[in-house]
Amino acid sequence: MTRWSWLAAVALMAGGPGVSAGQDVTAIRAGRLVDVEQGQIRRDQIILVRGDRIESIQPASSRIPSGARVVDLSKYTVLPGLIDCHTHLIGEAELSDVLLPLERSAAQEAFSGVRNARATLLAGFTTVRDIGTYRAFVDAALRDAIEDGTVIGPRMAVAGAYVTVTKGAGEVVGAANDVTIPAEFRFGVANSVDEVRERVRALLNGGADFIKILATGAVLTKGTKPGVSEYTEAELRAAVEQAAEYGAFVAAHAHGAEGIKRAVRAGVRSIEHGSLIDDEGIALMKERGTWLVADIYNGDYIAAVGREQKWPVEFLRKNEETTEAQRAGFRKAVAAGVRIAYGTDSGVYPHGLNARQLPYMVRYGMTPMQAIQAATLSAAQLMGWENRVGSLAAGKYADIIAVQGDAMADLSRFEKVSFVMKGGVVHKAP
Ligand SMILES: [Zn+2]
Repeated sequence: MTRWSWLAAVALMAGGPGVSAGQDVTAIRAGRLVDVEQGQIRRDQIILVRGDRIESIQPASSRIPSGARVVDLSKYTVLPGLIDCHTHLIGEAELSDVLLPLERSAAQEAFSGVRNARATLLAGFTTVRDIGTYRAFVDAALRDAIEDGTVIGPRMAVAGAYVTVTKGAGEVVGAANDVTIPAEFRFGVANSVDEVRERVRALLNGGADFIKILATGAVLTKGTKPGVSEYTEAELRAAVEQAAEYGAFVAAHAHGAEGIKRAVRAGVRSIEHGSLIDDEGIALMKERGTWLVADIYNGDYIAAVGREQKWPVEFLRKNEETTEAQRAGFRKAVAAGVRIAYGTDSGVYPHGLNARQLPYMVRYGMTPMQAIQAATLSAAQLMGWENRVGSLAAGKYADIIAVQGDAMADLSRFEKVSFVMKGGVVHKAP
């Protein structure tokens, strides 16, 4: 027992005030500290962590409290935990079988979530915005199990289910037309302004943190067309207004140029994918401050693995029609100054590979610092969580990761994160 914790124990036994008993102190020596707020690298710093929070950040020459545990990351680049704003932690990424969700029990889906959450955290992603599950509210159960310590995983904001039109981009499709899909897979189905309002209420009352609405067809949903709008602007606006009653926001899946513009005009907080965005849509997003969450890595994964695993030909074709268009649109959006947050559609590809998109964002127009900011501070701002996570600052959660050497020189190094701390607890160490 260290002297400090011995004193704390004594204070605890005596019931004495003053000492924040039971709160471990950790001093992290950071060789390179990425200050995402200033967009700078600071050399040789000490991060003091008390309990689950960052207490201070000081030059390496400053005094370390006696009794503090010291973690030496002086040969590492140290950053705030990364944030993925577009994950699907529930379920399996086997898209060769589109009816797979119907072959799995809720318990099996939850256990997949446990495995996926762990892989995501150990990859350095300490927070996710989990953007939909076919079986309603399994995501909320996973979020709660992580929060109460039953399961190891990232902090989660969850959508609860998909708000989608009948047989639209958020439905389990592929069954025969006269087969009825069970209600728990259709919780968010809504086909009018009134139904959208009713489903948004049901989702937010049921434990969702935000709303995911499918504004256009999808690449990986049979029969739907990415370029086709599935909701009217009035229906999208109903979702935004109803969510706002709860202080919640709407994320809109939108590939087609028209669907993107409808969603932006309706007031959604983020456009997911944005694959076929046009110049007018980019200008509108810039003007309205709408966030773009574009999954510009996974097109390559789908093209390679989808072919290998014999995913439906329709998926591969739609993937080809959107991948390069999305990257071109992303490049234009970056140049135009559209707000961009990191999101990968993890679940389409295996969980834990979330960092693979970072070098793509540099290839398509961002500086390495901008890409890291998108995956930290900007992502936190999109979620409305910037007071809790997203940068290394006193008072925020001690969600801290480290990558060996000068990681900012080559963002592919983020595929090998050496150190992961979440809320002051070390989950991975060199
Ligand atoms: Zn998705």
